[in-house]
Amino acid sequence: MKKDKIKLIQMLLNKNGSNLVVDGIAGPATLSAIEANPQISDNWADEELSNSDWPDQSTNGLLNYYGQVGENQVRLHLPYPHKLAWDTGTIVNSYLCHEKVHDSLKRVLAQTFSHYKQEGIEELRLNLWGGCLNVRPMRAGKRTSTHSWGIAVDYDPENNKFRWGSDKATFAKPEYDAWWSFWEAEGWTSLGRSKNKDWMHIQAANF
Ligand SMILES: [Zn+2]
Repeated sequence: MKKDKIKLIQMLLNKNGSNLVVDGIAGPATLSAIEANPQISDNWADEELSNSDWPDQSTNGLLNYYGQVGENQVRLHLPYPHKLAWDTGTIVNSYLCHEKVHDSLKRVLAQTFSHYKQEGIEELRLNLWGGCLNVRPMRAGKRTSTHSWGIAVDYDPENNKFRWGSDKATFAKPEYDAWWSFWEAEGWTSLGRSKNKDWMHIQAANF
């Protein structure tokens, strides 16, 4: 990220009550001020302060960056409880994901919670979880699914079915724009937004 842009963010944060040295360096104090002021970070900071250089989704690209399938998994403790999409009586407070995506995923969900609040999350079914780590081939094709590395996550599969396009998938609706901005600021790829299919699916790998 450019120094000038960080300086600008630091000035904005100072206007908002922070007391940062305006030096253009994204050190710990600046980063935590950004986290505490999501209205500023939404607009300015996340895009370039976050890790958005995910690998491409070729099997080699994924093996090089993430290692073997099913390995290097850590537990993500969720900022708001999820429900199993296929059994909504089951509450999910954490799930396994790859250690390299953990922090990014957590930031996305934290922003989701601060933006939509519990009520909005329920209403938009952003808490209906369709799985993350799952070692298996891709549904269409021979390659290994990105789920096998714990770097893809599915949400609300019932209303965003694999073959549905934007005419049917609820995630294509404008009320989800903020949701997508949080993922995209972190460099995640939505299959719906990029390929207009499998709208449930979001991954930390590029096409
Ligand atoms: Zn998926």
